[in-house]
Amino acid sequence: MIRNITFFTLILFSYPTVSPANESINSNDCEMIKQEDGSVHSKCTLIENSNNSPVTDIRTKKINTNTNASLIPSQAHTWGAKVYYSNFSENQEAKVEKAISLIKKVIGSEEFKERVLNYKFKGKKRFFDSEGFSNAQIYQKILDGAEIMGNTQKNNTMDVELELYHAATKTIGYTYPNVTKIWMNKKYFNRYTPVQVAGNLMHEWMHKIGFGHATKWSEERDHSVPYAIGYIMEELTKQHL
Ligand SMILES: [Zn+2]
Repeated sequence: MIRNITFFTLILFSYPTVSPANESINSNDCEMIKQEDGSVHSKCTLIENSNNSPVTDIRTKKINTNTNASLIPSQAHTWGAKVYYSNFSENQEAKVEKAISLIKKVIGSEEFKERVLNYKFKGKKRFFDSEGFSNAQIYQKILDGAEIMGNTQKNNTMDVELELYHAATKTIGYTYPNVTKIWMNKKYFNRYTPVQVAGNLMHEWMHKIGFGHATKWSEERDHSVPYAIGYIMEELTKQHL
């Protein structure tokens, strides 16, 4: 039984040529949508199964309370976020700020470090589509906060530019590899909880620091850096509410 449906934006680093104009192609839970200006983006729907999904299983795990602050790099405690808002109301900004305060708590936790460093895909400590980076290197890239576009310095900060728009479509939001901005559809943003925003924002930001994933759903794709880190963040933020 489907308990919950979360939507994630999908960024494409390599497109299959082009989809027919004004047409959507459904492939499992993803579809590619051609825009009026000729650009193509895709929308994916993530379905979480309450019975046997590994995501749900992990969520039953209790947060590790035996934290040892000395094991966490100082960068994990100083990590921050700088968000530029377009078309956000005060309340909408407050939701993002709440999400970010949750993300900061999680990144500063021993639990988050452990979860990233010990992440396993097919029995080995690694992520799928890791771009050749080890778990430790991926953790360090999160702490470094060096975006591939915009602020490329290792400034220990998530630099993101968010723009709200409204469309009566099923598109949750979108972004492109060569821009700093992330567009979010109010239709979905307004019903998101701060925890969902936190997961979604981390997913998107993983793209901004260089990680991608396939357009079509697969079991492997859930272990890609954006999806896996997004899931970990959503799970751990719930424990910091
Ligand atoms: Zn994505």
